[in-house]
Amino acid sequence: MAILKADAYGHGLVPIARKFADLGVDFFGVAFLEEGIQLRQAGIEAPILVLGGLVGYQVKHFLDYHLDITASSLHKAQQISEEARRIGRTARVHIKVDTGMNRIGVRVQNAAVFALEAAKMPGLELVGVFTHFVRAQGPDIELAQQQKELFQGVLDEMKRGGLEVPFVHVANSAALYNLDGLDYSMVRPGITLYGYPAGPHLDGIWDLKPSLSVHTEIVFFKGIRKGMGVGYMHSWQAPRDGWLATLPLGYGDGYPRILSNRADVLIGGKRYPQVGNISMDQAMIWLDGDKHGVGEEAVLIGEQGKERIGAWELAQKADTVAYEILCGWTPRVPRIYEGKGWKPYTS
Ligand SMILES: *Cc1c(COP(=O)(O)O)cnc(C)c1O
Repeated sequence: MAILKADAYGHGLVPIARKFADLGVDFFGVAFLEEGIQLRQAGIEAPILVLGGLVGYQVKHFLDYHLDITASSLHKAQQISEEARRIGRTARVHIKVDTGMNRIGVRVQNAAVFALEAAKMPGLELVGVFTHFVRAQGPDIELAQQQKELFQGVLDEMKRGGLEVPFVHVANSAALYNLDGLDYSMVRPGITLYGYPAGPHLDGIWDLKPSLSVHTEIVFFKGIRKGMGVGYMHSWQAPRDGWLATLPLGYGDGYPRILSNRADVLIGGKRYPQVGNISMDQAMIWLDGDKHGVGEEAVLIGEQGKERIGAWELAQKADTVAYEILCGWTPRVPRIYEGKGWKPYTS
């Protein structure tokens, strides 16, 4: 199950789904009903599981678009069953078991009994059981081991009750790399599919190649004098006379404002510091003694010459995770698809 939530981690929901489908992926996962509908409207026919919680009035739409539903309580399962019967459809349901995340899911103690009940409900086909890890990326994986055992206990209890379901899925990216014994019927990787590991300490250890890079170009270039302030609030002053470049991109595009005076960008194969507050639409770069003209490329994430800036580097400077840096690029930033197997096009 390839995870495509949040616009395929910022890469573009439909193009990435089509690409994965071409490559043979035959099950997709999204967070919301609306994401599932978007995939169906784009012609994706493979099963799609909506991983998030649901509100009663949404059930009809799940059925209309043949989307697999996550159920976390007896009450929800009953709602699903009633609606399915009312419109004469069969709902495909996966039970989410809460082994420790305390987000959504039925508690471990009640899970098997719930599964056995749900399996008997008319209009409802129980196709899957799953859980999700709190911290499989480590450094310590004890909690993940505990979760794994709790989940296996639920499966054993279901089996004793005579119930086995076709899709049992547990492993996210971190578990795929760090935990053994999760070879159930399916895995659910997200971030690794986009070329990033699940934690900063794993960068370079997992052999992955990021699929996204973020490029812009210098839109303005000028000299400034020692002591001059730059940008809103003058949060940075030039330490000496030198050159300053302005980039046409800011937090309105997904370049977080908290990176102000912290991030680097690549221009001409070299790192330069971003200076002054990042504004909604523009960000300034201190070139010091170097000159780079209008139209020259600047790389915010990606490679240039021997230098590389990864999403985990920015994430650590922004006190967040690479996930948030990747999915944060707003629709104002055009996505350009190119490389092996892509017909080049721009969103
Ligand atoms: C996001 C998500 C995944 C994928 O996680 P990665 O860390 O990106 O591999 C898998 N399962 C669930 C339930 C998720 O919410």
